[in-house]
Amino acid sequence: MIYTDTRDKSVKTDFRTAVLNGMNEKTGGLYIPVSFPKLNPSLINRTPEPTFREIAFEMAKPYVEGEIPDKDLQAIIHDAYPFTAPVVPVDKTSYVLELFHGPTCAFKDFGARFMARVMSYFNRNESSPLHILVATSGDTGSAVGSAFHNVSGLDVTILYPEGKVSELQEKQLSTFDGNVRALKVKGTFDDCQKLVKTAFTDNALRGKLRLSSANSINISRLLPQSFYYMHSSLVVKNRVWGDSKIEDPAIIAVVPSGNFGNLTSGLIAREMGAPIAGFVAATNSNKTIPDWIASGKYEARPSVETYANAMDVGAPSNYERIAAMYSLDEVRRLFASYWLDNDGIIASIKNCFEKTGYTIDPHGAVAWKAWSEIKNGGLQAIKDGKNTDISKPGITPNLPEWTDKVLDKKAVGIILETAHPAKFGSTVSKATGQSPLIPDRLEKVLSLKDRSIPMENDYEQFKEWLLANLQ
Ligand SMILES: *Cc1c(COP(=O)(O)O)cnc(C)c1O
Repeated sequence: MIYTDTRDKSVKTDFRTAVLNGMNEKTGGLYIPVSFPKLNPSLINRTPEPTFREIAFEMAKPYVEGEIPDKDLQAIIHDAYPFTAPVVPVDKTSYVLELFHGPTCAFKDFGARFMARVMSYFNRNESSPLHILVATSGDTGSAVGSAFHNVSGLDVTILYPEGKVSELQEKQLSTFDGNVRALKVKGTFDDCQKLVKTAFTDNALRGKLRLSSANSINISRLLPQSFYYMHSSLVVKNRVWGDSKIEDPAIIAVVPSGNFGNLTSGLIAREMGAPIAGFVAATNSNKTIPDWIASGKYEARPSVETYANAMDVGAPSNYERIAAMYSLDEVRRLFASYWLDNDGIIASIKNCFEKTGYTIDPHGAVAWKAWSEIKNGGLQAIKDGKNTDISKPGITPNLPEWTDKVLDKKAVGIILETAHPAKFGSTVSKATGQSPLIPDRLEKVLSLKDRSIPMENDYEQFKEWLLANLQ
């Protein structure tokens, strides 16, 4: 596969370069494959549907062709995914896709674990380790730390702002040993990011250590997220008749979004032949994308804090990939878009629990509310020219091409549940009156020893520490 760049289509590079560089420093653009090959229809139409791992292998194959042989790709997939993503029906026209069965209980495990193994593969013949530096405001750091832990040839240093992550998040970050460690920086998330960025531009340091990043713009995190869209849409297609007697339904993926990596992965799956009719781009009060879809103007802005804090992104980087793949008109035909404020998030967790008995986390709750509105008259109201004030929480005033399917009650939603509700226990119990059960793998982390290393918000000290402690 050839990879190009969102800002310069004359760029042509391979998977290895795209993965190890993360982004194209010359243009500031993001890497993107030049094509999204269709999966073999015999695989898509097979019943029962292929397993998650089989789909993962077949989908990954064209993107690594010529660079990772089949048997090594099989091993990477096998090792990355000892868990899957179950589909849970919650009412006649809604399914929840549980993406929290990985080690850190969030969907980022799917991308980070594939990326770690691919990087390790590309580093296999080097004599020195590849050093990953990652700044985190919470969840990314633990997914990356966990995904890279004990993976050979890789070494990870996580920077997080002292006192600014939750107790559980801090435990998830700071208790690794071996090749993963966390620096507790006396500063903000932006300070952490600045330290990392300065390190990447420090040629003296780069002469001594091989550095790489692991953030969500990396193409090797996006591609694997497309696997669960394909798998879940096939599962739903094959069982929906039995669940609801709806013939030939439009399957809509409802995606709680921040940086829009997850949704971009859904677009890739659809291009590759997943039976997904369209998407709902659902955000919290950080509504840069809904505003773009409504007004046609893209305006990045500072983020605001919400209960769905992993989606607190005011300048979503994957906007650039979406805009490189589709025109605004195409986006408006493919997507409905929706935003929800904090009061709405609490009300939605409560509503989902009372209506279905399902405990949803604050991120999934944004998607649950979006889907509920869309199927209960929201699109009809848009059609009638009502509720078009996008300064209030609600649906953007475009009518996607699958609108009539929804109005005819021939659509089902797949709601992406991106985190386990126990990760946001206090918000969830505020809404439902009950604390969610904590899974064993989260509980265990709470009793581990904190190994975080204190660090001043000072580049010279940070650099000195790196040179003294990393090889
Ligand atoms: C990161 C994250 C999101 C947002 O995903 P994007 O790919 O950035 O849009 C949503 N929910 C949870 C729990 C997350 O950790």
